[in-house]
Amino acid sequence: MSVAARLAALRADLPAGVTLVAVSKTQPAAAIREAYEAGQRDFGENYAQEWREKADALADLPELRWHFIGALQTNKVKYLAGRVAYVHTVDREELARELSRRFAQKGAVARVFVEVNTGGEASKAGCAPGEVPALAAAIRDLPSLELVGVMGIPPPEDDPRPHFRALRALRDALGVRELSMGMSGDWRVAVEEGATFVRIGSAIFGARAPRAG
Ligand SMILES: *Cc1c(COP(=O)(O)O)cnc(C)c1O
Repeated sequence: MSVAARLAALRADLPAGVTLVAVSKTQPAAAIREAYEAGQRDFGENYAQEWREKADALADLPELRWHFIGALQTNKVKYLAGRVAYVHTVDREELARELSRRFAQKGAVARVFVEVNTGGEASKAGCAPGEVPALAAAIRDLPSLELVGVMGIPPPEDDPRPHFRALRALRDALGVRELSMGMSGDWRVAVEEGATFVRIGSAIFGARAPRAG
């Protein structure tokens, strides 16, 4: 199946109001261009350097919206400022402050999600559920950030549904709109549990080669 055919099949299955973020990490710029030509506008990337190269190569696509969905080091924030529409992975105050400072320098606002580690996995990014209210309050105090929602990734070995429910409860408690959850393997469950953004890679672009380095 082509990228266009996979996108069409996904769109036919996604309820209205759910934004499809096509996760293009490790995919070449040509694959993103192909998806854009098939009508896709929202793309998610995980690695700042890889994203920059592709963003430069695709700067001629006027309606493309970038979503940063990877672990983000504070010293990489300057590259994203003013060029990325959404950051899904804000998990600490220091990162929020740097995002606001750098987006302000560009006269831009970043729409951000608080990333929550509902599985308590030591190896994974995301703040603990108990830290969400304080982090959300800090974000709301920053001038160049707009807190839009909550994001999470269930541990791969778990039933995802309880994690999606926990994310939804956190979202509701904050009084924000968006819920970024669901990937190629579990997006249907995520949508049942109220996802408003799904982040889907391999079901659009095919299996990824292992990342070098
Ligand atoms: C890679 C990735 C995805 C997409 O994963 P697929 O299983 O290929 O759909 C979604 N979200 C995040 C944060 C990712 O890193």
